Amino acid sequence: MNADDKVEENSPRSEEDEHDMPSDFEDDALEKIQALLNESIANAEQQNIVLKQFLAMMRANRTLTPEEREFLASPVPRPLEFPDMTGLRKCVADGYANNIMNIASVAKYIADGKAKNIIVMAGAGISVSAGIPDFRTPGTGLYYNLQKYDFADPQELFTLSYFCQNPKPFFEVAKSIYPDLYHPTKTHYFIRLLHEHGLLLRDFTQNIDTLEVIAGIPTDKLVFSHGSFAKSHCIGCRKEFSYEYVRDKVFSDQIAVCDACGAYVKPDIVFFGESLPEKFFERMHEDFPKCDLLIVMGTSLAVQPFAGLIAHVPETVPRLLINREVVCCKPEPPPADADEMDRYRYRVSSRFAFKDPENRRDALYQGSCDDAVQALADALGWGKELQALFDAPLPDKTKLFLPPA
Ligand SMILES: [Zn+2]
Repeated sequence: MNADDKVEENSPRSEEDEHDMPSDFEDDALEKIQALLNESIANAEQQNIVLKQFLAMMRANRTLTPEEREFLASPVPRPLEFPDMTGLRKCVADGYANNIMNIASVAKYIADGKAKNIIVMAGAGISVSAGIPDFRTPGTGLYYNLQKYDFADPQELFTLSYFCQNPKPFFEVAKSIYPDLYHPTKTHYFIRLLHEHGLLLRDFTQNIDTLEVIAGIPTDKLVFSHGSFAKSHCIGCRKEFSYEYVRDKVFSDQIAVCDACGAYVKPDIVFFGESLPEKFFERMHEDFPKCDLLIVMGTSLAVQPFAGLIAHVPETVPRLLINREVVCCKPEPPPADADEMDRYRYRVSSRFAFKDPENRRDALYQGSCDDAVQALADALGWGKELQALFDAPLPDKTKLFLPPA
């Protein structure tokens, strides 16, 4: 129908209108409204707002505009076929789905009590708004300051062989990324909220800034996949050193040296070529089979074995990717007449299926992590709680990493 075709109130319908509008239009419209309420709005307060708008419209006895009529007559998006995943939508459309709809669907999935063991996988993107410099990427300010050391490859800084030879540049960089200097982001506090609502199974982070701890996420909920500054060890005799000891050295521009054997002391950050902490593999095997919602935030999923974790949740478990770029996504499916092996490989690939019309579990929010978690928190009715956590004074950081009494 053209927007020009104004339909007067109580005016007889033209033949064309009859053709455009099936007799069960009202039923379809009601179904649509019901579906919108059920599937896209998790929060009871928001449902009431929508209902009040419809009531006001009915009281005013206003005729629907052509746009409203078209909207209400359009088909209700097909819900998921897996019964345990109701609420999540497929996200295909023109490549990817509508951000808000996906956030709303995930929020509803959580609000319906279907996600009680959420696993978060987080990367550098969740700390960007805290001001943490992107220290691994050549060309950033941090590396600029290191030009005097004449690295062939700036990543050398994070190799054990270079550290043994000259730990000074590492400690220089460490000084500028020490967790003491930064305030956690809303995304960190959202993860804490998941924990406080009893929904967080584990937070696997790639970050070494330890902002999760400052945000108040208990350390038993955390897996520092690439290590952290929380502890340090002598690279000679493996003697353990406290967070405070090494931090004090770093901030007084000294090199931390072992008092037992004289070798350098290195924070437990995973260097290139070093294996990941044992806890990473232990928790991977124990936690991922129990996971009922995976939230991947602020990571390009470029570093293995961390990136491979997304394959470890059960096949029907919803996965939400929140990132500025679409990553780890398989292409559109091969045509029906393609080689059977190709179609099989496509089907079993564990990459995100945003472009697959059969996708029923992968949701995407393309944008900033803080915006995404704010939308999620609002949809769950946690908006004020999130803001209060973010605004609260920071804990005494000097006590954060002390072992429990
Ligand atoms: Zn030692």
